[in-house]
Amino acid sequence: MPEKKKILIIGVNGFIGSYLTEKLLSFNEYEIYGLDRDSYRIAHLTDDSNFIFLQDDIIRSWDWIENKIKKCDIIIPLAAIAMPKYYIENPIKVFEIDFEYNLEIIKMVVKYGKYLIFPSTSEVYGKSNTDYFHEDTTDFVVGPIINTRWIYSTIKQLLDRVIYSYSLHGGLKFCCFRPFNWIGPKLDSIEYAKTGCSRVTNSFLMNLLLKKPIKIVGDGRQGRCFTDIKDGVDCLIQIIMNTEMCNQQFFNIGNPDNYLTVYELAIKCIELFKKHPEIPKDLKQAAKFEFVSSDEYYGKGYEDIFYRKPSIDKVKAILMWSPVIGIDKSLNNSIDYLFSEWNKMNDQKI
Ligand code: UDP
Repeated sequence: MPEKKKILIIGVNGFIGSYLTEKLLSFNEYEIYGLDRDSYRIAHLTDDSNFIFLQDDIIRSWDWIENKIKKCDIIIPLAAIAMPKYYIENPIKVFEIDFEYNLEIIKMVVKYGKYLIFPSTSEVYGKSNTDYFHEDTTDFVVGPIINTRWIYSTIKQLLDRVIYSYSLHGGLKFCCFRPFNWIGPKLDSIEYAKTGCSRVTNSFLMNLLLKKPIKIVGDGRQGRCFTDIKDGVDCLIQIIMNTEMCNQQFFNIGNPDNYLTVYELAIKCIELFKKHPEIPKDLKQAAKFEFVSSDEYYGKGYEDIFYRKPSIDKVKAILMWSPVIGIDKSLNNSIDYLFSEWNKMNDQKI
């Protein structure tokens, strides 16, 4: 039997890490080393003999990380804070984890000559106003320093530039991917979704289950392309299987056909919620939305991104990958998941 490829995933319990690990393990061709301080998304995978998991904080695990970077072929550092609410509440924490920790990891990957697959973000394009964002030609446009929302965008932008420079001058082989609003079950923890401050699809659906009005920030005309996590992870698998072809590439991974304004998304969530066969009638009757200002919702320091749509020409041409899952299907999957979690929560209360 050929030796299994070894992959290190830091932040393995995250939304992307957990789906990616599950999919990789299903091939029985990879040995996955995973680190995370939590395990609620991957608890069902920890018995797999191809999965070696350490539950701990990065700060206490530097020796483990270095040892595994030495051992593995591909390093995927996914540990990061990627929620706009935090960019306002705790930008320093975002800087420490997203920038400082990840820079340390990137340097080790360079030192040991391993292949890096790194999450960039659609946020790097900021307020660019071209119809489609292209990886290698679109300018990045961000707002002033007092709007700390941009800390995440600029951290990721600098890391992209550092990674690219290491590839030019330090021999690093890498592929950076930019997720465009990946969604699906388990996006944010149910506890976090309950606060009403998680990412938009979860926040909307959780509010409906809690009989609270959906909160549309601003006038709701801002738009996003929502991408199913399964489509996103399929693309990551293609990258993992074709590392040489993807070397030195930045890829948008998004679904340009799933473009909706936030207002349209609110209407769609309510519509699908009301059609769902198992949701109780009183919840359906209570489903409504309201508009709130961004100051009220996020606090000072927020600035919205009005428009965001990826060009996926490059990833299509190199990897023959295209997204196939429509927005209704993704939202229905999320409703199913949140509804079952909501039932469990209520059972525990009894
Ligand atoms: N948003 C909203 N209500 C919510 C959560 C988010 O109207 O309860 C808006 C937010 O202001 C932004 C969009 O939905 O315009 C997407 O927000 P999200 O946090 O999901 O991610 P982003 O794409 O901004 O990183």
